[in-house]
Amino acid sequence: MVTTKVRHGEPVQAAGLHALEAARGLPCSLCYAPAGAPCRSDPDRDHLGRYCEAEANGKITRPQLAVIVDGLAVIAVRLLVEAAAR
Ligand SMILES: [Zn+2]
Repeated sequence: MVTTKVRHGEPVQAAGLHALEAARGLPCSLCYAPAGAPCRSDPDRDHLGRYCEAEANGKITRPQLAVIVDGLAVIAVRLLVEAAAR
Protein backbone atom coordinates (compact mmCIF):
# COMPACT_ATOMS: atom_id res chain seq x y z
CA MET A 1 0.00 0.00 0.00
CA VAL A 2 1.18 3.45 -0.85
CA THR A 3 2.00 5.54 2.18
CA THR A 4 -0.79 7.98 2.81
CA LYS A 5 -0.90 11.23 4.64
CA VAL A 6 -3.87 12.45 6.62
CA ARG A 7 -4.80 16.07 6.19
CA HIS A 8 -7.12 18.05 8.36
CA GLY A 9 -10.38 18.93 6.70
CA GLU A 10 -10.09 22.65 6.16
CA PRO A 11 -9.47 22.36 2.38
CA VAL A 12 -12.46 20.05 1.86
CA GLN A 13 -14.67 22.33 3.91
CA ALA A 14 -13.42 25.32 1.93
CA ALA A 15 -14.34 23.55 -1.31
CA GLY A 16 -17.87 23.14 0.00
CA LEU A 17 -20.18 20.35 1.10
CA HIS A 18 -21.08 19.78 -2.53
CA ALA A 19 -17.50 18.70 -3.25
CA LEU A 20 -17.62 16.09 -0.50
CA GLU A 21 -21.01 14.80 -1.62
CA ALA A 22 -19.84 14.70 -5.25
CA ALA A 23 -16.68 12.79 -4.31
CA ARG A 24 -18.76 10.22 -2.45
CA GLY A 25 -21.35 10.04 -5.21
CA LEU A 26 -19.70 6.92 -6.63
CA PRO A 27 -17.87 4.00 -5.01
CA CYS A 28 -14.16 4.61 -4.51
CA SER A 29 -12.20 2.95 -7.31
CA LEU A 30 -9.19 2.56 -5.01
CA CYS A 31 -10.61 0.93 -1.87
CA TYR A 32 -14.15 0.11 -3.06
CA ALA A 33 -15.82 2.11 -0.31
CA PRO A 34 -19.48 2.24 -1.36
CA ALA A 35 -21.15 5.41 -2.61
CA GLY A 36 -22.05 7.68 0.25
CA ALA A 37 -19.48 6.18 2.63
CA PRO A 38 -16.05 7.56 3.48
CA CYS A 39 -12.94 5.59 2.50
CA ARG A 40 -11.87 5.50 6.14
CA SER A 41 -13.68 6.41 9.33
CA ASP A 42 -12.94 8.01 12.67
CA PRO A 43 -12.21 10.61 11.44
CA ASP A 44 -13.88 10.39 8.04
CA ARG A 45 -11.31 10.47 5.24
CA ASP A 46 -11.47 9.90 1.50
CA HIS A 47 -8.89 9.13 -1.15
CA LEU A 48 -7.89 12.18 -3.15
CA GLY A 49 -8.65 10.06 -6.21
CA ARG A 50 -12.37 10.35 -5.46
CA TYR A 51 -12.13 14.13 -5.82
CA CYS A 52 -10.05 13.78 -9.00
CA GLU A 53 -12.69 11.49 -10.50
CA ALA A 54 -15.46 13.87 -9.45
CA GLU A 55 -13.63 16.69 -11.22
CA ALA A 56 -13.02 14.55 -14.31
CA ASN A 57 -16.74 13.74 -14.42
CA GLY A 58 -17.74 17.40 -14.06
CA LYS A 59 -19.26 16.94 -10.60
CA ILE A 60 -16.93 19.50 -9.03
CA THR A 61 -15.00 22.31 -10.64
CA ARG A 62 -11.27 22.47 -11.18
CA PRO A 63 -11.04 25.44 -8.77
CA GLN A 64 -12.75 23.31 -6.09
CA LEU A 65 -10.21 20.53 -6.70
CA ALA A 66 -7.44 23.12 -6.55
CA VAL A 67 -8.64 24.23 -3.11
CA ILE A 68 -8.50 20.62 -1.90
CA VAL A 69 -4.97 19.94 -3.19
CA ASP A 70 -3.63 23.39 -2.28
CA GLY A 71 -0.79 23.04 0.18
CA LEU A 72 -0.31 19.30 -0.21
CA ALA A 73 3.35 18.34 -0.08
CA VAL A 74 2.59 15.23 -2.13
CA ILE A 75 -0.26 14.76 -4.57
CA ALA A 76 -1.28 11.16 -5.07
CA VAL A 77 -4.68 9.61 -5.70
CA ARG A 78 -4.17 7.32 -2.68
CA LEU A 79 -3.66 10.26 -0.36
CA LEU A 80 -6.38 10.44 2.30
CA VAL A 81 -8.00 13.79 2.97
CA GLU A 82 -10.19 14.45 5.96
CA ALA A 83 -13.77 15.44 5.33
CA ALA A 84 -14.11 17.83 8.26
CA ALA A 85 -11.78 19.96 10.29
CA ARG A 86 -11.06 18.80 13.80
ZN1 LIG B 1 -11.04 5.06 -1.19
